[in-house]
Amino acid sequence: MNKIFLIAPQLSPWGSAAPAAPACSLADVMSEQLATQLDEENNAFPALTEYASETTSDLMLAKMLQMQFDREFDDQLRREEKKFNGESKVSISFENYRMVHPYEDSDSSEDEVDWQDTRHDPYKADKPQTTPRRGFTGKGKNITTKHDAETCGRKNTARMDNFAPEVHVGDGLGMDLKLSNQVFNSLKQHCYSEQRRSARLHEKKEHSTAEQAVDPRTRLLMYKMVNAGVLENINGCISTGKESVVFHADGGSLEEQPVPDEVVLKVFKTTLNEFKNRDRYIKDDYRFKERFSKLNPRKVIRLWAEKEMHNLARMKKAEIPCPEVVLLKKHILVMSFIGKDHVPAPKLKDVVLNSEDMKNAFYQVLHLMQLMYQECNLVHADLSEYNMLWHEGKVWLIDVSQSIEPTHPHGLEFLFRDCRNVSTFFQKRGVSEAMSVYELFNAVSGLNIPVGAEEEAEFMAEIVALEKRNEDHVQKRGKKTFPVTCEDGDPPLKPDADD
Ligand code: ADP
Ligand code: MG
Repeated sequence: MNKIFLIAPQLSPWGSAAPAAPACSLADVMSEQLATQLDEENNAFPALTEYASETTSDLMLAKMLQMQFDREFDDQLRREEKKFNGESKVSISFENYRMVHPYEDSDSSEDEVDWQDTRHDPYKADKPQTTPRRGFTGKGKNITTKHDAETCGRKNTARMDNFAPEVHVGDGLGMDLKLSNQVFNSLKQHCYSEQRRSARLHEKKEHSTAEQAVDPRTRLLMYKMVNAGVLENINGCISTGKESVVFHADGGSLEEQPVPDEVVLKVFKTTLNEFKNRDRYIKDDYRFKERFSKLNPRKVIRLWAEKEMHNLARMKKAEIPCPEVVLLKKHILVMSFIGKDHVPAPKLKDVVLNSEDMKNAFYQVLHLMQLMYQECNLVHADLSEYNMLWHEGKVWLIDVSQSIEPTHPHGLEFLFRDCRNVSTFFQKRGVSEAMSVYELFNAVSGLNIPVGAEEEAEFMAEIVALEKRNEDHVQKRGKKTFPVTCEDGDPPLKPDADD
């Protein structure tokens, strides 16, 4: 923080000191003072008051102030640099004095495509002619060797093109800049060390992501929720999965709706590779298809969170026991906590039940699957003893970000997989009433695929044929064969102020 107090007065982000007022009459002074006072009351330090009103945590406030200060310092620096260099062709860079080093400035490229195709750059100056292999050009008195200072200098300038892409070399060729070997070599050296520094910084960031489970940007979003009062406190991590991190938090308050005392924050991981193999759940989901194709990967992660929110809302409507959505903020979904006094409800896989309760749990799951398929028009698509919790004598369904509608091109295959997980689990737990995967599939979908020889291959072929027929129908008629109840029931997304 002491950086703030070290600034020269003319660089203060809060404005420079007013120049001494010229002598004038008392009446003038009075009105002048009044005007200044009013003006100050209305709009002095807008940034400071804005932050103060939404920030209660000292640390957070300090960080935000520092960030704001650094930005404004850099702006000022840029202005000074411009003034200093004026129209001069040779310019001095103040880059090294910046508070926010370009590599650390994460805000600039968040959601934009931050690369450009430079292969065909019409603005690129032609490369200067190189000296032929024999080492000289021209004849007699006009001979120029490869050691010629001008040729060499131009060549050095052109070679700057090979520096790392993030190094701004400027248009040296355009202005016929000739770099001596000495200058070129030290520039090259500088580039290498900058690249190493940048790589180190990057590594450090990556490490902290792994260690603390969420990246700085996510942490800031979480802090903001606490500061806005939506959450009282964020307590700790319940689970770290491949695709998400789940935190327990104490609920605060929201204007329009009550916030439960205990909530969870499901943070969808922004490390993209984990999600790659899940693309097909969303790519072919016609509710999201259109938007999926237009989005960059970071935004696709937000779609997962959004999808979970919509699916949970449908399930709540059908009175399926599941978490209640409180708030969606980018890739963080806040929902009610299933459990009590900070202890999460156990997964069905971990809970020890007597045979009566286990049988009861099976019938509950059967009923929930039917409700989900028939009322919500959804297939869970990741249903197993890992995503069912046992709480207050009931089975609760969670983790529905990948759930899709039965008309999804692979919808029935996903349903079959869910049925197999459920059937296998309950049979292993000794529930004699547990249906076979085929019976369960038919009971849930109402499709009545003949079970006969109970050959999985035959059954699957029938399922795939059905999916195919459905797809053909969609292609031809632009309609679904199954009843579609989507979109209508989905609550509109809350506008995201930060976008
Ligand atoms: P993932 O996609 O990482 O599996 P889940 O939604 O299944 O994410 O959450 C991971 C774990 O976090 C769950 O197995 C469960 O133990 C816990 N969990 C998730 N949501 C809740 C909730 N609403 N209440 C209590 N525990 C939860
Ligand atoms: Mg899960």
